[in-house]
Amino acid sequence: MNQTAANQKEQLVDKDWNWHPHLPLDKATPFRWPPSPAGIWRWISSSWFSLTTLVLWVGLALVTWSFMLPDLVRMQNFELGWILQIHFKNLAVTCLFAGGLHWYLYGKKLQGKKRKFTHRDMARDKPMFTFSDQVKDNMFWSLASGVTFWSLYEIVYFWALANHYVPFVNFIDNPLWFVVWFPLISLWSSMHFYWIHRFLHWPPMFKLAHSLHHRNINVGPWSGISMHPLEHFLYFNSVVIHFVVASHPLHVLFHFYLQGLNPIASHSGFESLFVKDKRQMALGDFFHQLHHRYFDCNYGTSEMPWDKWFGSYHDGTDEATKRIRKTMIDKHRAART
Ligand SMILES: [Zn+2]
Ligand SMILES: [Zn+2]
Repeated sequence: MNQTAANQKEQLVDKDWNWHPHLPLDKATPFRWPPSPAGIWRWISSSWFSLTTLVLWVGLALVTWSFMLPDLVRMQNFELGWILQIHFKNLAVTCLFAGGLHWYLYGKKLQGKKRKFTHRDMARDKPMFTFSDQVKDNMFWSLASGVTFWSLYEIVYFWALANHYVPFVNFIDNPLWFVVWFPLISLWSSMHFYWIHRFLHWPPMFKLAHSLHHRNINVGPWSGISMHPLEHFLYFNSVVIHFVVASHPLHVLFHFYLQGLNPIASHSGFESLFVKDKRQMALGDFFHQLHHRYFDCNYGTSEMPWDKWFGSYHDGTDEATKRIRKTMIDKHRAART
């Protein structure tokens, strides 16, 4: 059985998890040493040639570019009308995706506990959360702060595009770059996330900002971009790359959806979406679920092996948990002396 097939196999329920993928974790990544063309192909085909969230964001970018954006001429000057149009578009897609998944998985529980990572449900009556309720807390920080920062970056980008202040590329001018830039954006986003995430785990930053996201030891769709405003500012600035690297608005919109909507799927708490017992597509990321449970591990995403290179990789096994706990204890001891 190949690895992908093994990952699809139902695992036994254990005391720690309701469901987990085959362990140790070994997700498709284009980075292997020595370089493996088969491994690169496996990553490309599993990410881009089947129904995945990445493909959804390309489709949504296309729909947005064709039907949902104000005229470029209008966007040459900052005016409330088109600014609000972009902001309401972002609020709407976030509410539809996060709200829809929450309704399906946690409200109506239409999938039951199939491929749900943890045994637990969303927390209620917990004073650590704003409004003492995990879902309301997560909705508030996602919509009031997250989508606002997202929209601010998007508004400035489209204003700059309308005024020819940013480099532009068309499919006709450079078809190879136009296509290759999409997977490169996903790798850039992964690398950017790893480094800002490490910075956010620096104790003063953790205390000031990142602890808000880590209120969620158990996660749900609304936890994805439930972050402190300072973290939103850092997190969404991954898109600033389009001010220096030639891009088409489709790349930029894809990048915004990758930043804004992908975490909703990856924090959903379910490995995949089932409709009437048929698996539709991958959702949750067990790799990041481990980060929410054990903190000092898996700072990146599973596409890029930064955690393997820097010794913070948690592959889901008990041995890795023991190693990560020991590193944490050593670090705290060193900090006290
Ligand atoms: Zn973290
Ligand atoms: Zn998270």
